[in-house]
Amino acid sequence: KANRAKSEFLATMSHEIRTPMNGVLGMVRLVADGPLNRRQQKQLRVIRSSGEILLGILNDILDYSKIESGEIAAQHVDFGLHELAEDVVALMQGRAREKGLTLTLRITEDVPAVVVGDRQKLSQVLLNLLGNGIKFTDRGTISLTILKIEEPDELALSVEDTGPGIAERDLEHLFEPFYQVTEHRRRGQIAGTGLGLAISGRIMALLGGKLEVDSTPGEGSTFVMTVPFEPASDSADVAEIRPLSEHLLPVETVLDDIPA
Ligand code: ADP
Repeated sequence: KANRAKSEFLATMSHEIRTPMNGVLGMVRLVADGPLNRRQQKQLRVIRSSGEILLGILNDILDYSKIESGEIAAQHVDFGLHELAEDVVALMQGRAREKGLTLTLRITEDVPAVVVGDRQKLSQVLLNLLGNGIKFTDRGTISLTILKIEEPDELALSVEDTGPGIAERDLEHLFEPFYQVTEHRRRGQIAGTGLGLAISGRIMALLGGKLEVDSTPGEGSTFVMTVPFEPASDSADVAEIRPLSEHLLPVETVLDDIPA
């Protein structure tokens, strides 16, 4: 009961803080369009990136506590799986290129284009895993592979990187909230909250699947998501594509509430 109360408190708090934070960021964007000297532009960039980092932390805490308090349910809607994979890879391509990394996508032929499931949650986990792969890898390749497994009928989505890898002693704690590998922090890699994998693991459990990791220090890591495979119903249309980031409120919505 106490744990549930804690999760509900965190969910409410992070939600309450997020709304004014979106207001702050919305205003910063407006000010950035006005006449500013170089020094002010630089200062505004710092405000903006600090605000975005804070928003990221709030979103993580909100997601985690929502899942913990049992508030979230999985959706069962037809959606384009190939399209989803292409979208997340396209979204991450810029970040990979900036670091000189190759980002690849491979979908085996037996994976149907349309399946039933929760598009938003699947893409959240994929984005988290690809984001980590890119963040922690300095050279080489990040590859997303999707294949179909039989008996039981499952889809396996794996994200493999040629990054620093994770030592055995860290692997068992990796899905605990706030856990971060000390060496990765020491190497100056900007780590987030340590909530990403805890959230991803719980989302996969919510979808009836699981998230596992295999890694060799010095060689790289592979994160594998497995979910029960549900073929799309015959007549259903592909679900409308929802924006990948549901967290950011449209600026207009926030600004409407601010008196002139
Ligand atoms: P965050 O990335 O916000 O620190 P995560 O929960 O996503 O939190 O990851 C927890 C930790 O696991 C990271 O801080 C990092 O040390 C380690 N980790 C995650 N993904 C990788 C990866 N692809 N390669 C190496 N280490 C990783």
